[in-house]
This record gives sequence, structure tokens and C-alpha cells, in this order.
Amino acid sequence: MADDGHRGAKQKVLVAGGGIAGTELALALKDLAEGRVEVDIWDPRHEFVFKPFAVGEPYGTSRAFRYDMRRLGERGGALFHVGGITSVDTVRKLAVTSDGKRLSYDFLVVASGVRMLSAVPGAVTFWGAVDEGLVGRVIAELRAGVLRHVVFTMPAGYSWALPLYELALLAVTEAGRGGGGARVTVITPEEMPLEVFSRGAGERMAGMLVERGVEVVAATRPVKYAPGRLWIEPGGEIEADAVITLPRLEGRRIGGVPHDEDGFVGVDEHGAITGLDRAYAIGDVTAFPVKQGGLATQQADTVAEAIAAATGADVRPQPFDPILRGVLWTGGKTTARYLTPLVDTIEAEADTAAAVRAPSVP
Ligand SMILES: Cc1cc2nc3c(=O)[nH]c(=O)nc-3n(C[C@H](O)[C@H](O)[C@H](O)COP(=O)(O)OP(=O)(O)OC[C@H]3O[C@@H](n4cnc5c(N)ncnc54)[C@H](O)[C@@H]3O)c2cc1C
Repeated sequence: MADDGHRGAKQKVLVAGGGIAGTELALALKDLAEGRVEVDIWDPRHEFVFKPFAVGEPYGTSRAFRYDMRRLGERGGALFHVGGITSVDTVRKLAVTSDGKRLSYDFLVVASGVRMLSAVPGAVTFWGAVDEGLVGRVIAELRAGVLRHVVFTMPAGYSWALPLYELALLAVTEAGRGGGGARVTVITPEEMPLEVFSRGAGERMAGMLVERGVEVVAATRPVKYAPGRLWIEPGGEIEADAVITLPRLEGRRIGGVPHDEDGFVGVDEHGAITGLDRAYAIGDVTAFPVKQGGLATQQADTVAEAIAAATGADVRPQPFDPILRGVLWTGGKTTARYLTPLVDTIEAEADTAAAVRAPSVP
């Protein structure tokens, strides 16, 4: 028997993960299916980290904001529980938590995000607001004029590449300020920078990098680093005094949820997990190749519609139709550029001081 009790005739939605995807799901269900569902969010962490400003932390220009997940969940009318979901029995619709509780559910939503793994042996990894001590040390050396050539890179595979370019643009600003004019190079497996947006955005991005003095080596994969030397494929090896890389990503696995060899969960156009009944996945954990918070919230909205309709709400579920939007922090005077696939690149004045103040949860 499940020991989680029963709270009326509402359908139980169990959400594994209280990141941006899980939180948006709760908010959307409040709009679409209030009174029909009760939503329980489980997450071993209770702090939601808003990562976009993490790139500025090693440079001392911004910080990643942190929010209480319980409060965010409550805004969506959900109950928040500290603890992980370790496994699910998707036939009996039972989940087991990290502290051994057995929970019954009507709908399961997997929103457990990704694990970040180091990708280039010997290089410094940018984890994005987890521990940027080593990245900060490289930037301090760049500022002090100790380094002649700094490389920013990322592994092939599923990713979100924007932070790579932001880190490089911020670095070239530092190099110009007092870093003795150190070279800054981006080495990327992409065919062109930010190719995920569009060819036009990629070309403009490449142009801006050249203009700002960042060298770009595209269609090239980093292999390993030893002091003074980075091995790349193709291309052999190049000299570098420091290498900062984005991590490799793997889906966070939950026992009983089918996934590919890298832990990513396959879903249909409504977010339903392939082959399972009333089980969905949203956000970075899915097999959708672009890992981005904006897309994660759109996936959450898609699944909220599907669940609301299944509970009898007057909603016609729409298939996932991703729209990619991004803001690129450039480190220049006009610090932000807005990117979408449709308009390629829109330059816009941005008040950074206002932008880096943490919005509060009302
Ligand atoms: C440096 C950096 C900058 C970024 N900048 C941007 C940006 O500018 N714009 C943008 O849109 N995106 C950006 N992203 C990407 C964005 O952060 C992710 O796409 C987004 O966080 C994905 O949301 P999610 O809810 O799927 O996963 P997460 O935010 O990772 O949340 C998953 C949650 O699930 C929990 N969890 C894990 N396992 C379990 C389990 N077994 N049971 C229960 N809970 C579990 C975790 O503790 C975590 O809280 C950036 C990423 C990085 C690293």
C-alpha cells in the first residue's frame, strides 16, 4: 500500500524535479486544471538556481540568483517535498522516494534535468554556478596579464552553447582591460557559432566574435589538455595557457523510466514518454537536443495541456512547437544581444544594472 494518503478525488500529478521545468508545469496546471489535480513536486534540493547570470560570476559582474523551491512550487499551488524519486513502477503507478516512501500517482512527470560531467581531461570545467573557483582563478590570471592564450571550448553532444560565447566575450573584454592583450579562442564542434539559432544568427555571431578579437575554430572537438597544450580533433594540438570547457551532459536517470545510453528520455510531440501510460518528461532530461530553460518551460506547458485535457478540462492539447529565444551577454558597453531564429540577431540596449538585480518571488 502507498503511504501518502489521499486528498479527495483530484488526480495526483507527481513531478520529479523542481527546476524551471517542474515549476512551470505546476504554474501551467494551476491555470489549466485547477480543482482537477493535486501536484506534488519532489526534489532533493530546495534551492532553485537561475543560471543565466552564472557566466558573470567568475568575472565579478553578476551572480546566479537563488530561490526557495518550496515558495516557487506554492505559487503554482503545488506541494513541495525535499527528496528524490529513485524509481517508479509505471504499471502500478507507484514511485519510491530516496527516504523509502512509496507514493501512488495518476500522472508522472519526469523533470530531473541533467548531470554535468567533465568533458576534457586536464581542462577547467565551467559548471555554471556550482563552484567557479577554478574558472575565477583563470580569469584572475588573465586580468593579471599572466596568460598569453586562453581557449574556451565545449564537447560534442546535447548542450546549450550560449555560455561558451558569453565567457569568451567577457574574457576578451578583460584581456583588453589589463590582460596584456592575451589571445582568446573559441573551439567548438558546431559548424558555426550558435548554429542552433539559424545560419544567419551564426554568421552574425561569427562576425561579432572576429570584430571583438575572439578567434573561432569551428567543427573541431577538444580531446584533452596538459599544461601548455590542447589536443583537438581534427587538427592535432595547439598551444594554450589555460582551457575552460563546458561540461558533458547526461540525463538524470530514475529507475523504471526508459532512457537512451546517455540517460535522455524519449517523448512524443505531447511530452508523453515513449511506451508508458500517463508518464511524461520535460526539460533537459528529455532527448530533445537543445538544453535550454526557455524550451524546458515550453515543454512543461505542452505537458500541462495534455494532463489537463486527460482530466477532462476544456483544453485542446497542442504539440510541442519549440521557439528558441536567447539573450547573449557580450561584455561590451551595450551588453546584451537578443537572439531568435526568426530575426537572427536584434541588438538592443540593456540596462545591465537592472538586469542583474534578482527579481523576487511575489
Ligand atoms: C551556465 C549556464 C547558463 C545557462 N543560461 C541559460 C539561459 O540564459 N537561458 C536559458 O533558457 N537556459 C540557460 N541555461 C540552461 C538551463 O539552465 C537549463 O536548460 C534548465 O535549467 C533546464 O531546466 P530543468 O528544469 O529541465 O532542469 P534543472 O533546472 O536542472 O532542474 C532539475 C531538478 O531536478 C532535480 N532532480 C534530479 N534528480 C531528481 C530525482 N531523482 N528526483 C527528483 N528531483 C530530481 C534536481 O535537483 C533539479 O533541481 C543555462 C545553463 C547553464 C549551465
